Amino acid sequence: RAKSDGRHIARFFDPGMQAAADRQSALETGLRDGLARQQFVLFCQPQFDVRGQLVGAEVLVRWRRENGVLVAPGDFIGLAESSGLILPLGQQVLEDSCNALARWRGDRSLGKLKLAVNVSVQQLRDPEFPEEVARILARTKAPAGQLLLELTESIFADDKQDLAERMHMLCGQGLRFSLDDFGTGYSSLAYLKQFPLTALKIDRSFVHDVHVDPNAGPIVKAIIALAQQLKLEIVAEGVEHEAQRSFLARSGCSALQGYLLGAPMPIAQFETLYSASGIGHA
Ligand code: C2E
Ligand code: MG
Ligand code: MG
Ligand code: MG
Repeated sequence: RAKSDGRHIARFFDPGMQAAADRQSALETGLRDGLARQQFVLFCQPQFDVRGQLVGAEVLVRWRRENGVLVAPGDFIGLAESSGLILPLGQQVLEDSCNALARWRGDRSLGKLKLAVNVSVQQLRDPEFPEEVARILARTKAPAGQLLLELTESIFADDKQDLAERMHMLCGQGLRFSLDDFGTGYSSLAYLKQFPLTALKIDRSFVHDVHVDPNAGPIVKAIIALAQQLKLEIVAEGVEHEAQRSFLARSGCSALQGYLLGAPMPIAQFETLYSASGIGHA
């Protein structure tokens, strides 16, 4: 026992591991300060229906550090989740998103959009979450019916009963849910109907070679057929090429998202580009 503990401690003080642990805790302190200093900013990526009409947007958070560097969520969401900071961060993202929805009200173009916000399973696990969402909706006067929460398949690994109940409470407030990155994680088709979902997002790894890989096309078509049977909308993410766009449009997707159609951009730029009175609007 003592011997194995000794080895464990010796490993912990391995300089490489110590450096990694130091980086982690510096990053965590940075995250905490960043939250206090409002360094987390919203980017928005447009979503279009197959006829090319703007129908929605996804909110993607970025961390603008004091040195001006913009950090992508892949580099901090994991730590925010493991440190618990995802709760205040997620709350801020949701509040800023609801403020945008309220601001867009009445605009002929922006006023109709659905806004999708990514939510971590840790947020949904919090019993206070539905009340907190209600408070945010009341405070911002955002139209709840235009708010879509994106969850990943990691909900399937959790306490399904609790999460489903909490989701139903939120649906009662008018919100809807979409399942992100479908097909990459804990996909179990049986679980799909246990949750109140209105949309599936086909992961971009399937979209990537849909037009070239003889297997990817049929898989995407099967996912779309499944979604249609379950009366779910289907959003394809990561559309980069015209050949992918036309394949997906022909196959019955409800909406498309990707660099081909529009990259994520600061929310102010999104508003200028797409508002009915905006400069970039045709
Ligand atoms: P996601 O929700 O699946 O978001 C789509 C990601 O694909 C985004 O990466 C987006 O910038 C990227 N993307 C969009 N179009 C294309 C394309 O045509 N090609 C390729 N290769 N990529 C494309 P991003 O912004 O780096 O976000 C990564 C992930 O971080 C998101 O994946 C989401 O899971 C998470 N995330 C972002 N914002 C939040 C947030 O506010 N809260 C939480 N909990 N997670 C977030
Ligand atoms: Mg998403
Ligand atoms: Mg996704
Ligand atoms: Mg993803």
